[in-house]
Amino acid sequence: MTDAALRNRYLDAMGIDVWVRRGGEGVGKGANVAPASSVVSAITAREPIAVRQPQPTGDVAGLDWDGLAARVAGCTLCELHATRTRTVFGVGNRNADWLVIGEAPGADEDQQGEPFVGRAGQLLNAMLFAIGLQREQVYIANILKCRPTDNRDPAATEVACCEPYLLRQIELIQPKIILAVGRIAAQNLLKTDTPIGKLRGQLHHYGPQRVPVVVTYHPAYLLRSPSEKRKAWDDLRLACGVLHDAQ
Ligand code: URA
Repeated sequence: MTDAALRNRYLDAMGIDVWVRRGGEGVGKGANVAPASSVVSAITAREPIAVRQPQPTGDVAGLDWDGLAARVAGCTLCELHATRTRTVFGVGNRNADWLVIGEAPGADEDQQGEPFVGRAGQLLNAMLFAIGLQREQVYIANILKCRPTDNRDPAATEVACCEPYLLRQIELIQPKIILAVGRIAAQNLLKTDTPIGKLRGQLHHYGPQRVPVVVTYHPAYLLRSPSEKRKAWDDLRLACGVLHDAQ
């Protein structure tokens, strides 16, 4: 698929209306689009941000998928276990190249036990579709496995309790790229309080395996701020370029 066709698919999937200049060069669908490589090199030109790399703890080391899922299902390490309906372990292809990491389950996810099943999840599916991926082809997880009450931000202690589970999932999946969606996911993965606007648009790495990480906006934010969808497109192209270069 050409760059222009790929971009058009994204614009369609994301519900972006595009105006095309009459008689001149288009600015949207059908317009000339910079090749992916130039988008990537322009975006990656900034200095990388140094971060502390997390290490897996001994607690879940060596657990297989079933053991890990059972450990999460019975987890009482933080107070969120008392208010959850279900734990939200993660879903998708356990051998995926792409690992999508969000923040924490919301009300729908808490009920269904699956990440990103609400409106934000539908938009996430559309974003993935735009780069040629079905939801089932990627693995989707969250920083937290349990829903924080009132959808508040995860507390530092909750993140710390959950981190070994996510680290073990990453060890098992061995993804080629992590797409961190939203400020909470990005800042907690990268151990920084740098604003998301500065974290996106460049390549980061995560964990002992130094898995490439690309940061983008959370689909829930994109639903509230549709004009930012174009930046999310740049982020997706950056991630595709990173993956392409790694293969
Ligand atoms: N938002 C997230 O970050 N994760 C979900 O699973 C659902 C909504």
